[in-house]
Amino acid sequence: EISMPRPDHPRVLCVANQKGGVGKTTTTVNLAVALALHGNRVLVVDLDPQGNASTGLNVPHHAGVPDVYDCLIDNVPLAEVAQPVEGIPNLFCVPATIDLAGAEIELVSVVARESRLARAITAHPEKFDYVFIDCPPSLGLLTVNALCAAQEVLIPIQCEYYALEGLNQLINNINLVRQHLNPTLDVSTILLTMYDRRTRLADAVEQDVRNHFGDKVLEAVIPRNVRVSEAPSYGQSVMTYDPGSRGATSYFEAALEIAMRGVNTGGTA
Ligand code: ADP
Ligand code: MG
Repeated sequence: EISMPRPDHPRVLCVANQKGGVGKTTTTVNLAVALALHGNRVLVVDLDPQGNASTGLNVPHHAGVPDVYDCLIDNVPLAEVAQPVEGIPNLFCVPATIDLAGAEIELVSVVARESRLARAITAHPEKFDYVFIDCPPSLGLLTVNALCAAQEVLIPIQCEYYALEGLNQLINNINLVRQHLNPTLDVSTILLTMYDRRTRLADAVEQDVRNHFGDKVLEAVIPRNVRVSEAPSYGQSVMTYDPGSRGATSYFEAALEIAMRGVNTGGTA
């Protein structure tokens, strides 16, 4: 039994990349489950109107369910909308419903529009070891809210040809948020996803990313693995759907590295 250290203060990680389909949601769900299965108290905040993280964790998120929109726009406490994830003790999810689709526009005219999520998380009375915020594939106000609420940014990068394209824009946005809104925000973690070791391209992308981001890049790399993509249709993470699969073992390794780094650095808060 491998022991996973718990951080001595809550770590809030924003999982961001404005490109769609790079593995943000898959990474959020599987890291959250891995950490929760090893004794951490974990909250997933689904900040994508598509609600994929809610679906992946099998949390009800049909129209009418209290969701993250209510926290952002109507000041409803997170605790009132967080739902326990069935079968995974210590894991909770604030779902996204279709209501969230309007939030990007509605937020524009709201007071302190960039820090609504930060306020909601800070006001949360329960103690979590980790909060993961699953961002939509854009750099709009929802993602800005996530960047303001987090101490750390986790960027999943898909090992494909255009992997680094668009990353400058993301980094620029992170720098702007750091300068104006959240001075201690840190890009702490880069995770390579959907790695296909049969291709020389994947290897080249990995080298590029490691040269560029150095030790922010986790040693664990997530392979392309069909079990990972099957799991959500069973309302499960790959960690429970097929714990022995390469997808599950590599997400576990990534979770362990994240946990160890938090201990070694004393956290980034
Ligand atoms: P994002 O949230 O960035 O849009 P997703 O996490 O939804 O990306 O992933 C996009 C698609 O790729 C999904 O269908 C998902 O199941 C699939 N996928 C993600 N990671 C893997 C993987 N390691 N192996 C195989 N399929 C994957
Ligand atoms: Mg997603």
